Amino acid sequence: MTAADVIVVGAGPAGAATAILLAEHGVSVRLVDRARFPRPKICGEYLSPEVPRLLDRLGALKAVDAVARPLAGMRITAPDGTALVGEYRRIGPWRPYREQAMAIPREALDAILVDRVRALPVDFAEHMRVTDLIVTGGRVEGVEAIDDDHHRLTLRAPLTIAADGRASVVAQRLGLRRAHRLQRMALVTYVEDLADLGRYGEIFVDPPDYAILNPIDPGRANLSVVVPMAHAAPWSGRLEAFFDARVKQLRHLARRVAGARRVAPVRAMGPLAYVVDPPRTGGVLLVGDAAGFFDPFTGEGIFSGLRSAELAVTAAVHALRHGDVSAQGLAGYQRARRLAFADKERVTRALRVVVGNRVLANLAARVLVRRQRVLDLLLGVIGDFVPPRALVKGILGR
Ligand SMILES: Cc1cc2nc3c(=O)[nH]c(=O)nc-3n(C[C@H](O)[C@H](O)[C@H](O)COP(=O)(O)OP(=O)(O)OC[C@H]3O[C@@H](n4cnc5c(N)ncnc54)[C@H](O)[C@@H]3O)c2cc1C
Repeated sequence: MTAADVIVVGAGPAGAATAILLAEHGVSVRLVDRARFPRPKICGEYLSPEVPRLLDRLGALKAVDAVARPLAGMRITAPDGTALVGEYRRIGPWRPYREQAMAIPREALDAILVDRVRALPVDFAEHMRVTDLIVTGGRVEGVEAIDDDHHRLTLRAPLTIAADGRASVVAQRLGLRRAHRLQRMALVTYVEDLADLGRYGEIFVDPPDYAILNPIDPGRANLSVVVPMAHAAPWSGRLEAFFDARVKQLRHLARRVAGARRVAPVRAMGPLAYVVDPPRTGGVLLVGDAAGFFDPFTGEGIFSGLRSAELAVTAAVHALRHGDVSAQGLAGYQRARRLAFADKERVTRALRVVVGNRVLANLAARVLVRRQRVLDLLLGVIGDFVPPRALVKGILGR
């Protein structure tokens, strides 16, 4: 094996995107993933309207278009039944890359991105699990890994980029990952025989739960229900029974899925939220879920993973060219992340409060149903094409 400039750990959307963009910059990349693709992934399988811009840049949009289902907008049902319908469309000066979001099975999306990696000069190894980091003198110098034949390997490179998802070994080894006080769990499955499965994603807010129906093809939808951990934990051996009972309790969801069939096992993931501090060590960057948590309510994880890959590659290429991969040499990435995500994170936090409180959720729905422009702005912020500040101005009527 030849030495690489960058080791990328994890070949999900963030890692694959990082490897593709680095290879296009002529940087030599070693990409490793513990799985073999296509691999399953628990997800709501919704792509926000700015994701196509990033997929286009990665040379993957055509292949995604052949599989994905376009979504014109979202239909949101409040606890009292108030229904809000918003579409992804131009609002004033802000226009989405495309006036639609998309629904696509993760196995398909992730396999398309990995196929794109395979078409490039990237040294890509599947079934290779990173077990530890090599840290010398306060700098990451590579990783320890185990391959398909259980051989232990030491991989060295000036820069390691962690894209190993929410349970990132890299973040844990650097002591960056902390628990979040929000203790919620997602239960995800597929349903079929659902009436009127149209071109809208559907959200049902019913505190303390919410549920998302995402039509991934004309007869089949991804159904994700998010509940407090404490409610689901006693049922860990009987998740299907818990899931079916919970769906019946969510009045508007229950009515919507009456007559539909659950056609896949219920898969659970929780606690959903966690905190990752930025690394103070040189030789390392974190992208995608490895760098932090994005709430499934806003369906922004994949967008953020791809966008953080773009930002990390800009910083990595600059640092490698200047021969400075110290924490300081890579600091531009953290600044760029803050600029890209901090305002949106504030909106997400506020939404979390509203969605978690019955009175607030009903009140917000009754206001938004009369203020379509504010609803469109909110959808644009969630869809990543309207700056959060525009939403604040919209709410204040400016
Ligand atoms: C319930 C739920 C629903 C969601 N719904 C949506 C949605 O509808 N839309 C959306 O945009 N986002 C959604 N998200 C978020 C989205 O799934 C993530 O943000 C996205 O998958 C992050 O991509 P990633 O590449 O960072 O990580 P991942 O997709 O998790 O990829 C990480 C990769 O790293 C590999 N890996 C892990 N550990 C190691 C190791 N030690 N060595 C080698 N390889 C390793 C894994 O095999 C995996 O392939 C949802 C999340 C949850 C929990």
